[in-house]
Amino acid sequence: MPGFEVFGARERAQVNEVLETGVLMRYGFDGMRQGRFKALEFEQAFAQRMGVDHCQLVSSGTAALTVALASAGVGAGDEVIMPTFTFVASFESILMLGAIPVLVDIDDTLTLDPKAVAAAVTEKTKAVMPVHMCGSMADLDALKEICKAHDLILLEDACQAIGGTYKGTALGAYGDLGCFSFDFVKTITCGEGGAVITNNTNYKVNADQYQDHGHDHIGMDRGAETHPTLGYNFRISELHAAVGLGQLERFDEILDRQKAHYDILAQALGDVPGVSFRRVPEGGVQNHSFLNIFLPTAEKAEQAQKALSAAGIDACFYWFKNNWHYINGWEHLTQVKSIAPVSPQIEENLLQLRHKDFSQSDHYIGRTLSFLVKLGWDQATVAQRARVMRETLLSL
Ligand SMILES: *Cc1c(COP(=O)(O)O)cnc(C)c1O
Repeated sequence: MPGFEVFGARERAQVNEVLETGVLMRYGFDGMRQGRFKALEFEQAFAQRMGVDHCQLVSSGTAALTVALASAGVGAGDEVIMPTFTFVASFESILMLGAIPVLVDIDDTLTLDPKAVAAAVTEKTKAVMPVHMCGSMADLDALKEICKAHDLILLEDACQAIGGTYKGTALGAYGDLGCFSFDFVKTITCGEGGAVITNNTNYKVNADQYQDHGHDHIGMDRGAETHPTLGYNFRISELHAAVGLGQLERFDEILDRQKAHYDILAQALGDVPGVSFRRVPEGGVQNHSFLNIFLPTAEKAEQAQKALSAAGIDACFYWFKNNWHYINGWEHLTQVKSIAPVSPQIEENLLQLRHKDFSQSDHYIGRTLSFLVKLGWDQATVAQRARVMRETLLSL
């Protein structure tokens, strides 16, 4: 997955263009910047690549989620449905707005189970946030149907599946809003950065203002701009956007290489008894950032990870015992370890999480191993890796 593996001349050239003018900020300073607008250029190129009308670049993927929710009007007391298996950014972005994260089970896609989503909808639900974990997607048709029936916003977190598609549409472009991260370990990186994409012009205007203190961005004098709404600062810098432009130039090359490596690994494991692959919804194409397998039991999965690690296979993740990606590891959330007070309503909801039954999620995550697909491997390395993975899993 990591674009940092291919950081090179293109990225340096883009950054140097910014350093030449010294205008590190995306707004203002028009006299000095010699027509260079890296953030704007990235937004236009990325929107086009994703097949949407609008892109809003921000400072991180977490900021993208916050800005996307805020742009669609999600705020205090609103419920947002999210999965038990995700990155902590999901609930962070919701809590940031005073909204309530409602955690529900995942299924064999390793993403939101539509049945669990339907069962969790209340009159306070405002949005559904599927997270396309580890390179593949949620059952988006089923989720859209639920959202339509209850007038909910569908917000895709495509941070880990950039470049994947669903029924011919780019992941992130299928819902009302889509979010991406360009942090240092993502498929393409800005160093730090994130993006919101949408076809909804209102959301774009809101996002544009919200991420820059409510500035209306009308006219040529930043100081004289008005602020139609309250906002914050989630801006990206020109330096970061420039790195992203360099990476975007090789996006397809990165995806192709990921797929080639993925295919070799998947082929090697395809007929290993007891090993099965995560389900990719019909019509979906992964971005191949991870290879994800199920073992028959949680014990076997843990045993397999240990054996693989001993055999020299790095970047193999057992999320069930991981601090960052599964509800098991989120004691700070379930015990509301907050530096500052949170609203009583949020506290009550979070404390209830400990009593909820997530055995369906345990059933899948407990048996899942994910292998990061790297770009830097040469042919011999991938072939050797495939062989070792196969032999180790066969020997269990
Ligand atoms: C990385 C990631 C984020 C957050 O992105 P940052 O840029 O690190 O804030 C959000 N969701 C998922 C699924 C991620 O993997």
